[in-house]
Amino acid sequence: MPGVPGGIAARVRAKRWFQADRNAGQGDLLDRDAVDQAALDPRQGRVIDSDRAGGRAKTEAGCPSGNSDLLADLPPDTLCGGLGPGARPFRGGHATSMATWPHRRLIALARQFLPSRAMRLVDSHCHLNAERFAGDEEAVLDRARAAGVERILVPGWNVASSIRALELIDQFPWLDGSVGVHPHDAAKVDDAGWRRIVASAADDRVVAIGETGLDYDRVFSPIPDQRMNLRRNLELALDTGKPAIIHVRSRAGRSDAQDATLETLRELGFGGQGGIGAFGPDRPPAVIHSFSGSVEYATQVLDLGLAISISGLAFRAGEESTGEVVPLVPAERLLVETDSPFLSPPGAPRGRNEPEWVRVTAEWVGARRPEPPDGLADAFVRAYERAFRVHPA
Ligand SMILES: [Zn+2]
Repeated sequence: MPGVPGGIAARVRAKRWFQADRNAGQGDLLDRDAVDQAALDPRQGRVIDSDRAGGRAKTEAGCPSGNSDLLADLPPDTLCGGLGPGARPFRGGHATSMATWPHRRLIALARQFLPSRAMRLVDSHCHLNAERFAGDEEAVLDRARAAGVERILVPGWNVASSIRALELIDQFPWLDGSVGVHPHDAAKVDDAGWRRIVASAADDRVVAIGETGLDYDRVFSPIPDQRMNLRRNLELALDTGKPAIIHVRSRAGRSDAQDATLETLRELGFGGQGGIGAFGPDRPPAVIHSFSGSVEYATQVLDLGLAISISGLAFRAGEESTGEVVPLVPAERLLVETDSPFLSPPGAPRGRNEPEWVRVTAEWVGARRPEPPDGLADAFVRAYERAFRVHPA
């Protein structure tokens, strides 16, 4: 096999190289705990295995196809029986073959097959208050934490779910909540129910009003009820100075829900002096959650000073324009979300989306942004804090 030297000198050279690399701060790339964790957690993907009998490496499906070529000409021992449980990668005899491989190529290889470090994440819209999470919230949040999620906003959609959001914050104080009535429920919340929403909106745990909006796609409540409901939710946002969270969907090829939403926002003074008076000059008066619509619509939304939140909906057929909208949004008004348990992005379980999968959407957004990944991750956190957190005086 070409390029596999033996001898003590080569081992010493390899050991020095490895030590120098650790000293240079690259050691975390070669951290065995991280490797073992990846092997134990198939969702992390990119765990490699070598086929010793065949003398060739193989990769699991998560590996980029280009890696196969790179691996195929590596000495099999370099991959040390797969970086699986109990493996001792980059140690002992394996260092022998490391000495033959250019430094940069090995680092690139390690980067490709080790799990990426958890990036900072926020989920600006997750219905942890939904029945599908009942009794399982703690495990879901543990997974989110492990994935790097720092804050989650749990929006209500009717009276019971709004109250439930507040109960969850009592249990998990790193969550934030919002109260309001979704367009689907517009015709189901009576005056007494609305009074309960209004009363709870003043609560310190509530950082926004909604989710509300217009859904002319499914029309689970009659459109006149939806219009009335949107208006009173937006008025509550103005009264409390807490931004509105808005859901807007039209049927394919149409924009009537978007047009009507913009009209109502303008009528009520969002984006004008009234909005600035209510929400302050440095805060979006509303968030268009789970963005769906054209570039023209996004431009009008941004002109009003609103924030835009991107969800797994962006991956669906018919939503391609979202990819063109992402680069247009100022970083301080760009959010990401899961809308769990709905709208699973690729790779997430179809049956129940969870906040940990916000990473997939954040990475998709990042591929369309000029910021470096760490910079964008910090920007997501700041945009979330700017929109929803009350800054201390
Ligand atoms: Zn929602």
